[in-house]
Parts: sequence; structure tokens; C-alpha cells
Amino acid sequence: MHKAEIYFNDSSSINGYYLDIETPNHCPHCHTKIFPVVIGHSDITETETFPIFTVIFLCPSCKNHFVETYNKIKDKTFSIGYKPSNTIDEEVPSKIKDFFPRFYNIYSQALTAESYGLEELIGIGFRKSIEFLIKDFLIEIKKFSVDEISEMSLQNAINKIDDIKTKTLATKIYWLGNDETHYQKKHEDRNYTDMKIFIKLLYSYINSELTYLDAESIEKK
Ligand SMILES: [Zn+2]
Repeated sequence: MHKAEIYFNDSSSINGYYLDIETPNHCPHCHTKIFPVVIGHSDITETETFPIFTVIFLCPSCKNHFVETYNKIKDKTFSIGYKPSNTIDEEVPSKIKDFFPRFYNIYSQALTAESYGLEELIGIGFRKSIEFLIKDFLIEIKKFSVDEISEMSLQNAINKIDDIKTKTLATKIYWLGNDETHYQKKHEDRNYTDMKIFIKLLYSYINSELTYLDAESIEKK
């Protein structure tokens, strides 16, 4: 393991101090064995466990940057690696998350792919997410049989939806999703950005229906 010294300012004194870190020996971009160059680092942040800081490295081989986060425990440092977290859509209503956790998980993974610029994977993820949203909606809310819906093509499942706007929206997302999956693209003026806008509206419609059913279920007393 190679080490580097990181200098921190100390607000309580004129002089700062150095901490030793072990530098990563592989580049996460080009996967070659490297001695990375330290480009910069964050301040130390207090957390519920140990204080943390993050160091930015440059790969001398492929010239890409990457980061690594460290715990500071007394005057020692320990890498806790780089842990990417899922990107989330904060607008997703709680009813949608509760009723359709599989949709929410896949949709969040697709958004994470988007945040990493993995353009070839985003639309495929969106396409898969609505399959779970539509099929679980039909099974959980519309009480279709699990066996019937599970085996059905997504288009046939969408055709079971009675609300015309929800059905149309789901169909169009499905078409655009097929473009993201197939070799030849049919709707060249559209892409995953359109899919994302339509998915937000689709889960809003489904949320409206859940909210309506909740109100409808109130008995007169
Ligand atoms: Zn590299």
C-alpha cells in the first residue's frame, strides 16, 4: 500500500496538521494498478460514528478522477471506499413506494444509471420498472390473478387497464422503452428523458386512483 499525506487546516490553531492515508492501488475507471495523484480533499465532517473526509484522486494512466472516503479515528485513517448510493426521485408518493416497492427499486436504479451517465441502460431500466408498476397494479389493486398477469406480455397487461389516460400513457412508455431495448429505434425524436416525464405522470395517475379508492372505502356511519 502506498501512502499520502493530507494537510488539514485546523480552525483552533494557526497551524494545520497532516493525516496519512493509504491510497487506492487500482483505478475504478481503467482498472489498472496505479499510484494515484492526490488532487484535493474535503474538510472533515463529524458523523454519528467517526469523522469522515473524502479525497479526490487522479489516475495517471487514464487521467480520470475518482474519490475515496476515509474515516478518521484519532490520528489514523481508514478507507471506507466509495459507496455509490441510489439516486431517488423525491416526488414519488408514499403510497406508490408502499404498494409498488419493486417498481420503486428498479426505477431508482434507472435514475442512478442516469446520474452516472450510463445512457444505454437508463431506458431499459425505465422499461422494466413500468412492467412491475403495471403488473403489480393489476394484481394488487385491480385483483387480477397473479398467474394470469405474470405470464402476460406487458402490452396485453396494459390493455387490461380501464382508465384510458393511464392505459395510453403506459402504452407510450412501453413503445419508447422498446426503442431503448431493440436494435432499431422507431421513435427517433424521443428518448429516455421523455420516458422519465411520462413515468412521473403515470405514477401520479396511479397514485390518484389509490387515493380515490381510499376515500371510496369510507363507510357511512
Ligand atoms: Zn485509470
